[in-house]
This record gives sequence, structure tokens and C-alpha cells, in this order.
Amino acid sequence: MMEIRGTGIGQGVAVGPVVRMAERLPEPVDRPSHLDPQREGERARASLSVVAAELANRGATAGGAAKDVLEAQAMMAEDPSLIDEVTKLLDTGKTAERAVFEAFAAYRDLLAGMGGYMGERAADLDDISQRVIAHLLKLPAPGVPNPGHPFVLVARDLAPADTAMLDLDQVLGLVTVDGGPTSHTAILAREKSIVAVVGAADAAALADGDTVVVDAAGGLVISSPTPEQVADANARIAERAALQSAPVTPGALADGTPVPLLVNLGSADGAAEALKLGAEGVGLFRTEFLFLGHDTAPSVRDQQEHYTRLLRAFAGKKVVVRVLDAGADKPLSFLNAADEENPALGLRGIRALRHSEVILREQLTALAAADAATDAEVWVMAPMVATVDEARYFSALAKELGVRVAGVMVETPSAALIADRVLAACDFASIGTNDLTQYTMAADRLLGTVAILQDPWHPAVLRLIGEVGAAGAELGKPVGICGEAAADPLLAVVLVGLGATSLSMSPSALADVRASLARYSPDDAKALARAALAAEGAAEAKQAAEAAASEITASRATAS
Ligand code: PEP
Ligand code: MG
Repeated sequence: MMEIRGTGIGQGVAVGPVVRMAERLPEPVDRPSHLDPQREGERARASLSVVAAELANRGATAGGAAKDVLEAQAMMAEDPSLIDEVTKLLDTGKTAERAVFEAFAAYRDLLAGMGGYMGERAADLDDISQRVIAHLLKLPAPGVPNPGHPFVLVARDLAPADTAMLDLDQVLGLVTVDGGPTSHTAILAREKSIVAVVGAADAAALADGDTVVVDAAGGLVISSPTPEQVADANARIAERAALQSAPVTPGALADGTPVPLLVNLGSADGAAEALKLGAEGVGLFRTEFLFLGHDTAPSVRDQQEHYTRLLRAFAGKKVVVRVLDAGADKPLSFLNAADEENPALGLRGIRALRHSEVILREQLTALAAADAATDAEVWVMAPMVATVDEARYFSALAKELGVRVAGVMVETPSAALIADRVLAACDFASIGTNDLTQYTMAADRLLGTVAILQDPWHPAVLRLIGEVGAAGAELGKPVGICGEAAADPLLAVVLVGLGATSLSMSPSALADVRASLARYSPDDAKALARAALAAEGAAEAKQAAEAAASEITASRATAS
């Protein structure tokens, strides 16, 4: 039995055999072949056609959008001009591996240079090249494996292209060596409700076929578990399945005090699923996705159409839209300077918008028009506010352009520390715990090496949240939470104890948070918050809240 620690994503548990994702192959050495070009040509063509057939087969099995992608890849593998290029390189005496590598790399650079849709295909060529070289070398193909039975996928990390290939009926769980809680893989796992532990450095030692328990709630992977551990994991899997099928009710504490449960969305596409899972509205609509990959901002009319689609899906419900949060982890060429040394501390969020006010004005105009045309209750907020002046500026401009409710995100310690004055200048606050943690702990949220510090349980972060909660209560203004912290069922209770009036999270977290809130009264939530605030560090705060929660449960059991 061996325990491996990492960052758990969500609350799930999985048990199954490990299948490792093969690592990227090194670049083939450029040395003269000892075979003649004709023989090397036969090897290359044979491997190209095996890979093409494999890709086409996988496409036929996958169906849907994956089928189109894989069929296109299969055709690329047998593209006559690519094969000509390989042949030319072989004639200069190169090995088949090296010739395939060079021919595909040249095409990849050509496509990447074209940008747009063609540019996005460049990564596909890399993938085919790796597969062909692996076949030539008789090594396992890189990328997501397909062993034909359910498995726990263990990888260094997943490339976005790999994620499209995950068959959720087969992948029981996911363990990655790299990656932090807000990495691409973590976001994907959360979105698709995959049981995952990321940043598990020691997972590199796991071998194909090892049985593992993946315990996301505990941030733990147990290899070669005892029969008792397997039985316990299976019991928890059954318990969670029952929880997921529990009736969908509005979020509330044990005494019925409402705590609206909202969702974080990046496009209108996830709306139907979120509503099915009981979303009472949207607590964070990230509008960057509409702008990313463009050289200019979309027109007011395009934006209005996009927002209207989302608002229609949430008719009669609250929808909090964040204006463009460009910069740092979400750079946009037309808003951010490429040469900032510390982009997380640079011209990002409201700072960048104020600098390019036309873009902000257009977005607010589109939002006000979409609001007027639909029945949702639209609130609009600004990201990365650090001063009262910024809050006042944003609120005044939003109102001037027809927005009815304007607020700010509290993501900087500065905004939290003077939350009373910031909130006095606008209608509401929503705490972005991802950035608030990053800036409080001075730890880059994207960096695996400091992921341990990116923990919203840290009492310094909780204390700042408490400041905002107290200011909201004093002024009678709503204080939501829209960072990942709201998706942690026990931390959610602590956040309510600190004064949060609504919680917004990935749709997949709703059931767990709903069940957790229902176990505690408002006084219990305050007791949990007090226990966590008094701790020394993040781990201790979590333990203190767990201990307080167990005490509450035990005293209830004695009383009844
Ligand atoms: C946050 O920072 O907590 C947040 C919700 O915004 P994002 O993750 O998009 O920066
Ligand atoms: Mg943020």
C-alpha cells in the first residue's frame, strides 16, 4: 500500500486499474540510415498507413465531433504531398523516423503560420507524427490510451487535444503528475465531473495494471489498497451516486435560511445541464471566451446576440455577468501589452478596460440591450478592482449605459481590506477566491511548484473574506462567492459563516454543496468559520472546521 498526495478536484472517489499515458517521444536523432532509401520508404509508408487506419477506426468508434476530427487526421497521415516530402528526405539518407519528423514539422510550421482554423490543426500534425514515429520504433502510441476496459488514467498532464478523446464511460478517474488546482486539466475535470487528483508528483511511480483508489475529496491516491480500503471506496461511490440522484432543491441551511446556489459558465452551451442540476441562476458568466482568439472585440450586435442566448436560458433568474477580464492567465492581443514582466500585476481586468474604454462601453451597451430584451435579472460586475475609485468609475459608467445593477469582484487584498468603502460605491460584491488567494499568498495560481500555497482555506484568505462579508451585512449589500472555493462542500459552509449570501460554482459541484449546507444552521456555519479563522495555516483551518463539524454532528446525535 502506498499513499500519494496531490490536489483533489471535486469530491468523487474511483477505484480501478492504472493505465499510463505514454510520454511524448524525444526528437529522432538526425543520423544517416544504415538501410537504403527504398527500404526506409517502405517502413515509413507502412507506419503511415497503419496510423491512418487506426485513427479512422477510433473515429468510427468515438462517433460525434471526435469522428470528424479523427477522420481528418487519418487523411492527413496519408496526404500525398506529405508522403512526397518524406520520400525526398529519405533520398538524402535520413532514417524513416527522422524524415517523418522533419516532414510533419515543416507542415506544422506552415499551418501554424496561417493562423485561425488552419493554425489550430498544427497540433494535430504533431500528434500524427508522434504516432507514426512510435509505430516505427515499436513503442506505445502517445496520447490517451484505449485499453478496452474501464481504467484510471495516469499522465504527466493532459494536452487540451487529449481531453477531447477522453471516453467518460471508460475513464474512471484521472491522476496527473503536474498541474495545480486551476490548471487546464483541473478545470476540465471539474467541468466533466471526472474524479481527479492533479499535481501528484509521486504518481510518476505508478505502473500499468496497479489497482488504485483515487480519493479526490482527500487529495489522495492509494496504490495497492487493502480490501477494506477498496470496500470503503466502493461504499463512498454508492453514497455519492445516491446524493447525485437526490431531489434538486434550492440551496438552504438546516433552518431554511436560503443560500442561492448559482453556477459559473463560460458560454450559453452549459445552461441546460446547469439548470437540470438545480442552478438557481448564474453567479459568474465569464465573457472572455467570446473574445479569446480574436484580433478585435466582437461587435456590439454579436455580443448582444450571445448574451441574449444565455439570458433567455435563465429567464426569471439572476445572471451575474463579468465584463472582460483580460490579462495574466487570459491575455488578449488587443487589450494587453505582450511585454509586461509581471502580467498578473499588470494592466489586467478593470485596469485594461479603463485604458481601452471603448471596449468596455461597447460591452456594457450590449449587456444593457440584452437585459432589456429578456426576462433574466442581469447584474454586471468588474474584475480585479483594487480601489474605491475603480468601483465608482465602473458603477457610474455601467449605469450611464443602462445597466441596472453594477458591482465588483473582490479579488485583491486591497478591495477586501476596504470592502466597506468599495461596497458603498456599488451595488454588490462577488469574491473571486482564485485570484484573492493568488494575491494574498503571492503565489502564481498557474504554477504547480507553488500550488500548495494556492489554498483558499488559508486563514489569511478567510479573514479577508470575512471583512467583505461584514461590510456586506453592515451595508445590506449582497456578497457572493464565485471562485473555486465555493465548490468545496465544507468550505462553502465556512464561507456562509463569514457572510457570503450566495455561492457560485461549476454545475457538477451543486449536489455536494447543497447537501452540505443543509446539515448546518447559521450558528453552526459561524462556529465553523471561527474555528477555521483561528487556525495557523490552510491545513489546520480545514482540520479545525472538520473537527467543529464532527462535534456539531455528534451533539445532534446525542440530542435526538
Ligand atoms: C476568481 O479569480 O476567483 C474568479 C472567479 O475569476 P477567474 O478564475 O476567472 O479569474
Ligand atoms: Mg479572477
